[in-house]
Amino acid sequence: MPEEERALPIVIVGHVDHGKSTLIGRLLYDTQSLPLDKYAEIQKTSEMLGKRVEFAFVMDCLEEERSRGITIDTTQTFFKTPKRRYVIIDAPGHKEFLKNMITGSSQAEVAVLIIDSFEGIRDQTKRHAYILGMLGLKQVCVLLNKIDLVDYSKDKFEELKGEITDFLGRLNIRPTFILPISAILGDNVATPSEKIPWFDGPTVLEALDTFKELKVEEKPLRFPIQDIYRIDGERVLVGRIEAGHLKKGETLFLLPNNRKVTVKSIRKFLSDDVTTASFEESIGISLKGRPRVKRGQILSADLSSKISDRISANIFWMDPAGFHTGDSLLFRCVTQEVPCRIEKINKKFDPASMELIEKDAFSIEGAEVADVLLQLEEKVVADPFSEIPEMGRFVLEKDGRPVAGGIIP
Ligand code: GDP
Repeated sequence: MPEEERALPIVIVGHVDHGKSTLIGRLLYDTQSLPLDKYAEIQKTSEMLGKRVEFAFVMDCLEEERSRGITIDTTQTFFKTPKRRYVIIDAPGHKEFLKNMITGSSQAEVAVLIIDSFEGIRDQTKRHAYILGMLGLKQVCVLLNKIDLVDYSKDKFEELKGEITDFLGRLNIRPTFILPISAILGDNVATPSEKIPWFDGPTVLEALDTFKELKVEEKPLRFPIQDIYRIDGERVLVGRIEAGHLKKGETLFLLPNNRKVTVKSIRKFLSDDVTTASFEESIGISLKGRPRVKRGQILSADLSSKISDRISANIFWMDPAGFHTGDSLLFRCVTQEVPCRIEKINKKFDPASMELIEKDAFSIEGAEVADVLLQLEEKVVADPFSEIPEMGRFVLEKDGRPVAGGIIP
C-alpha cells in the first residue's frame, strides 16, 4: 500500500456519555472529513433545534448513511490531518474490543481514553483502562472532556490529571498526553483554545500526530517456517514473512535453537530466484549448508524475541466448558505448536465488568479473562503483542478445538 494511503488505527474508549460520539463528530467536522452536503445539513438542523452544533448528531447522520449502504464503510471512519490519515476503529463494547484485538480482527495502534471532567473516573473508564493495560498498548492519550462544565478550571484539571496518572500507573499505563478539551465546543481538539490560556500542551490532533505507526514491515525479520519442500533437489523452507524483510546472502538466526544460517536463495510465486522479500509475502527460502530445520522454527534478523518455555500472558477463555488445573493444552503462535499447561492463574476477571473474580485460581470458566503463566514442553519464540502483533498473539487448543485466545504483553 502506498505510504500516503495507510491510516493510523485509533480506538476511542470511555464511559458512556463522556463524549465519544461527540469527539468523533468534532474530529470529522474539524478535519473536513464529512461528505460535503452533511455540513449544510448539520448546520441547518442545529439552527432549527435552536442550539449549537450537536456533534453526536454527526454520528447519527453517518449511521443513517451507513444503514442505507452508501458512501461510508460500515466499520471504518476516516479523518485526516496534514500529516496523515487516521481510521477510527469501532469498539462497540469493551468485551468486543478485547476479543477483536486478541483475535486480530482489529488492531488499534493508539488508544484515546475520554473522561468527563465533571464526573471523573467511572466504571467503564476503569474497564477500558484494564484492557489497555492488558494489551500493553504504549500509545495512549487521555482526554479530560467537558472542561467547559468545570469552568475551564486549571485546578480541577490538575486534580483529575493527578488521580488519573495514579490510577493508570497502577495498571502500567503511562499516557503520553493528558489534555483538557471540550469536544462539543471544539476547545483544544483541532485548534488551541483561548479559554484555557494556562494550558500550553498540544491539541488532540497535534498529540495524535506525534504517535508512531507500528510499521511491522520495518521491524526485524520474523519468518515462521510453515513447511519444508524439496524442489529440484533443494530443501526449501516456505512460509509468510510476519515482520521485516530479508535479502539473499543475509545471515539470520534460526530460533529457538539460536543457530546462525545464511540465505542461499529466495523464491516467490512464479519467480525462482529473487534477491529480496518483505513483510506479508509468502516465499520459499533455501539455506547454505544443511542445517537441521523443522516446521515451527522462526528465522529472525536479531535476538530481541523472548525465547522461553515459560510465558506470562493474558488469555480470553472462549470455550463454555472452561479450564481446570491439569488440562493439557496446545499452544499455537504463528507456525509454532507446542503442548502446554497453565501453571498458574494469577488473576481472573469478568470481561463484562472487568472486576477481579479471583486471585490464584484453579479454574477458568467460559468468557473469563485471566492473567496466567504457561509452562510449555519446548521453548517458543515470541515478541510483545504491542511490537509485532502476529508474534505476540496465540491460541490455546484442547482436544483439537480452539478454547482460548491470548496475548503476550
Ligand atoms: P458517548 O456516550 O461517550 O458517545 O457520549 P456523547 O458523545 O453522546 O455525549 C454525551 C452527552 O455529553 C451529549 O449530550 C453531548 O452533547 C455532551 N457532551 C459531549 N462533549 C461535551 C463537552 O465537551 N461539553 C459539554 N458541556 N457537553 C458535552
